Amino acid sequence: MSVRIGIGYDVHAFTEGDHVTLGGVRIAHDKALLAHSDGDVLIHAVCDALLGALALGDIGRHFPPGDAQWKGADSRLMLRAVQALLQERGWRVHNVDAVVVCERPKLAPHVEIMRSVLAEDMRVEPGAVSVKATTSERLGFTGREEGIAAQAVASVVPR
Ligand code: MG
Repeated sequence: MSVRIGIGYDVHAFTEGDHVTLGGVRIAHDKALLAHSDGDVLIHAVCDALLGALALGDIGRHFPPGDAQWKGADSRLMLRAVQALLQERGWRVHNVDAVVVCERPKLAPHVEIMRSVLAEDMRVEPGAVSVKATTSERLGFTGREEGIAAQAVASVVPR
């Protein structure tokens, strides 16, 4: 069986605000993520992993930050667009594993709903989507709560 693997990584800095959106889930927080879109680092990392699996470039190429269409955009639309691109080319998502790195907000209560949201947009079962959360033990920019980072790995198979 033909399998292709991709990796994705994304970071957004904190700014003033009252919530973050991660994995398509709005989470109350005392800061927001600075971005052209909704700043959903988890979805952006997953999109890059999926695009990477098929060597289709990166999220910036498909959804240019200067493009007014994506200003304040719900990143779920990007994930659905990437899924459609894969489908057009004869591929489907096999599984995704992702990790979000931040000290706060605490993500554990939200992980299951994030998995469901991502799975729905990628048209797979939630069992094919893993979302993990970790801190960086107060080290580095995530440890200083200057921003949130996310990494993802995805595998895709022929439809
Ligand atoms: Mg991003």
